[in-house]
Amino acid sequence: MTVRTRFAPSPTGYLHIGGVRTALFNWLYARRHGGTFILRIDDTDAERNVEEALEPILSGLKWLGIDWDEGPGIGGPHAPYFQSQRSAGHKAAVEKLLASGHAYRDFAKPEELDEERKAAQAAGKPYLYSRRFAAFTPDDAARFVAEGRQGVVRLKMPREGSLVIDDAVRGRVEFAWEREQDHVIQRADGSCLYHLASVVDDHDFEISHVIRAEEHLSNTPRQAYIALSLGYPLPAYAHLPLVAEPGSRTKLSKRKLAQYLKNPDFRQMADHGTRIAERIGVAAAADTFNPVIVDFYREVGYLPWAIDNAMALLGWAYDDKTEFFSRDELVAAFSLERINASPASFDPKKLWSVQDHYMHALSTDEKLALMLPFLVKAELVSGPPTADQTATVRRVIEASGDRLKVSGDILGYADFFLLEEPVLDPQAVAQKLAKPGVADLLARYAAKIAAITPFEPGPLEEATKAFVAEAGLKLGDVIHPVRVAITGKTVGPGLYDCLAILGASKSIARIDRAREVAG
Ligand code: GLU
Repeated sequence: MTVRTRFAPSPTGYLHIGGVRTALFNWLYARRHGGTFILRIDDTDAERNVEEALEPILSGLKWLGIDWDEGPGIGGPHAPYFQSQRSAGHKAAVEKLLASGHAYRDFAKPEELDEERKAAQAAGKPYLYSRRFAAFTPDDAARFVAEGRQGVVRLKMPREGSLVIDDAVRGRVEFAWEREQDHVIQRADGSCLYHLASVVDDHDFEISHVIRAEEHLSNTPRQAYIALSLGYPLPAYAHLPLVAEPGSRTKLSKRKLAQYLKNPDFRQMADHGTRIAERIGVAAAADTFNPVIVDFYREVGYLPWAIDNAMALLGWAYDDKTEFFSRDELVAAFSLERINASPASFDPKKLWSVQDHYMHALSTDEKLALMLPFLVKAELVSGPPTADQTATVRRVIEASGDRLKVSGDILGYADFFLLEEPVLDPQAVAQKLAKPGVADLLARYAAKIAAITPFEPGPLEEATKAFVAEAGLKLGDVIHPVRVAITGKTVGPGLYDCLAILGASKSIARIDRAREVAG
């Protein structure tokens, strides 16, 4: 069978992490089977500017390497890929359903339907529309119109028996038809509703597998009914487990950020991102700067494949131990059979550890290429950076090692090398410099290292140890104040690396200047 899958987002203005998981599974399944992955834009209900609301979704998918074979920007044999531009086909399908008796024009007023619903409730019975205002002949329709009624088109759903689908994730699922309403498929103004449009588009695009979030499972009977009534073969269905909140089974929502921040792991991840955003000067507004949304990871400098790899593990597992997959490995390993139906909790700690794994594996050159743009954005280096700046940043990256967890971390590790003067953190000054005897200690230390050649980590370490021994001090008594003197803060690359990267004259000048605020 030719595999054709699709991701069908609505233009909402952001790419939700749960949407990434759906897109990724569709993409993986298509790639695994040499199939086609299609991006369809479900914009029939779009109220805002579609292009603007779509941009973060398209750029997010591109950043993640989830590339589509047909869809916006590239077209394809079934264009257009925007649902709103396909209404002629949707309307034709409605006419077909009317002609075959699978749908009817209905002229009930909302209050009349409400009455029926309430009566059923009062009688303790499930509500099913009486079809009192259904027009099965043109004469009926003319009569209702003459009464000033407006008509919609409803599905004439079966009321007996059931639909059984073989869901690739959930297995056999049975839906009793009597629990289905006569859903509206076309409004009085002639516009078609989403469920109808989706089924028609899936058929036109020759979608073989509908892989989507669990919340759409309840839409399946009406959609399958539409498809079967139009004579379409049913696609295979796979309803993916919910991407749930950290530590819960409820759907992850971008609106519940305040609640998630009570989870320490989530908080740590969000705060870390916010610090980076502040350094770049990006406003870390809560509604956009949110780990439920993909832009967060891009702005902070996560590796796109780390996000993909972590998302692949939300509801899918190859076995009970393999966690890291290259792109090719994941494509080769992926299967719908290994998707688990129970909700998959979004786990910030896991994502962090996957990110750590891939960051660790990068070469200095690869890190440099990823991190320099952050420094340009924060205006710590020129755009493009000079050879000197690049050389400094390269040394900072080497010296920082695994302390750089995401690309944006470079901002806090390289700033004091690139700025003319370090920005002294008042707390660090209070803790490490403003103590009796520190000014004098700094003077003696500066004198000790001034003549060292080469001014490199090895000789600096030796000299510092000798200095400590002669003065009868502990290493920390020297290292901490000197670090604050030259970097302004208490964290960063190793002290000897910092001194070496800065060079003798800058290091000595900074130590001298720090004596003014030292005790
Ligand atoms: N546009 C729908 C959504 O955003 C797609 C549903 C489907 O995949 O059938 O969830």
